[in-house]
Amino acid sequence: MSYLKRPALAVLAAVMWVTSSPQVEARYPYRFKTKHYQIETTVSPDFAAEMGELMEILHAGYSKWFKGKPRSKGLSRIIIFKTAGEYAAHGDGPPNSGGYFSPSDDKIVSWLEGHEEYLRTRILAHEGFHQFFFKHVGISAPWINEGLAELYAYSLIDGTDIKFGLVTTMDIARLKKVLASPKRLSLKRLLTMDHRTWNENLARDIALGQCEYVQARFLVHFLYYADGGKYKKYLQKYVNAIQAGKDGNAALAAGFGKKLAEINQEFPKWVVEDLKPACLEESCSANLFHLAQLYYKFKKAGVKFDTLDDLKEQALSNKDVKWSVVPITLDADHLYGPQDTEEIEKWFVCPKSKKGYELVDDPDPAEEGLPLIVCYAHHKKLAVCASFRKSKKGDRMGVIPNVRNIQIKTLKRLAKKAKKNKKKKK
Ligand SMILES: [Zn+2]
Ligand SMILES: [Zn+2]
Repeated sequence: MSYLKRPALAVLAAVMWVTSSPQVEARYPYRFKTKHYQIETTVSPDFAAEMGELMEILHAGYSKWFKGKPRSKGLSRIIIFKTAGEYAAHGDGPPNSGGYFSPSDDKIVSWLEGHEEYLRTRILAHEGFHQFFFKHVGISAPWINEGLAELYAYSLIDGTDIKFGLVTTMDIARLKKVLASPKRLSLKRLLTMDHRTWNENLARDIALGQCEYVQARFLVHFLYYADGGKYKKYLQKYVNAIQAGKDGNAALAAGFGKKLAEINQEFPKWVVEDLKPACLEESCSANLFHLAQLYYKFKKAGVKFDTLDDLKEQALSNKDVKWSVVPITLDADHLYGPQDTEEIEKWFVCPKSKKGYELVDDPDPAEEGLPLIVCYAHHKKLAVCASFRKSKKGDRMGVIPNVRNIQIKTLKRLAKKAKKNKKKKK
């Protein structure tokens, strides 16, 4: 499956922190200020506002782990160029990077086009966590900094809810490979590694760097979820200790105490016995990701339907259409198909409001007649929305579902524009 592929680690490595020299302040045309962020972009005013909303949702999520005020004042900057070319020309990031966080001037820089999932997950959710961590803690305990950043990078966002736990088959295969590798880090080494060693390892040995990231990610995942969340309180105690300025062994003792030996034993067992590809919480984002594909497949097959109810009926009864849907976990060995009737029914209902979704005309559809599929149940200003985007050349699917929060006022404007376009055609 070549679409929505997780970025290779080599790219990830390039998205490390860089400390940049002071730059002349560029003027980016669209700005949007929120309580904690200043968004600057060359995309559009709507996009600036959308990114502002997204960053505040993430910020609220990050804040749950940390107490008290940040170490420094001022808004954190997020700069998003429209194209990779603009980024290369104006950004001061490392060569071939997908974006970066610069602690010295509290900014994240990246771009949008052809980069949408990557921007939201690897850059804004992940680097956004580093930015927050730096502001509230500083530089310490790289495993928790990376592990929590990954928890956010592999999450789904419905309105203001962040749903953790998006684990794919590929992720698990990578973890098992790492744990079987001679470069695997012992728990003690991973948990006491300082920031400098972490980066040096990554720079000189990409396989070792992969162990750091993958082990940190899944250790946090384990501590958060394993055995009904019984280690979660220790994870929080550890974060508290880090924030209180403890480091290395002292932070470990304060956070995990005698539990560490048990964790050391239980983690590898959990990987083998319990870790499954999943998005652990039901979410509109996952529903819409599946529903959008279903919609596309039935349209492509020439089936006539006007409403989502019609589509549901067709999906459950029409045996002539051969279809499959890629799960949000990208598990290519277990595609959804007509036999999954229980699942199909779920895709049509918002797990939060138990209401159905709505169709909104897209003024600029990736292919003729494809709509936006929308849930309004999460927030008074934001809807969860699936649209379609043309996929890159060589991808098997003609269009890719693109699921995200969208401002309701933007949706209204799009619907109006679509209506106008329709009239023009008549
Ligand atoms: Zn990171
Ligand atoms: Zn919903």
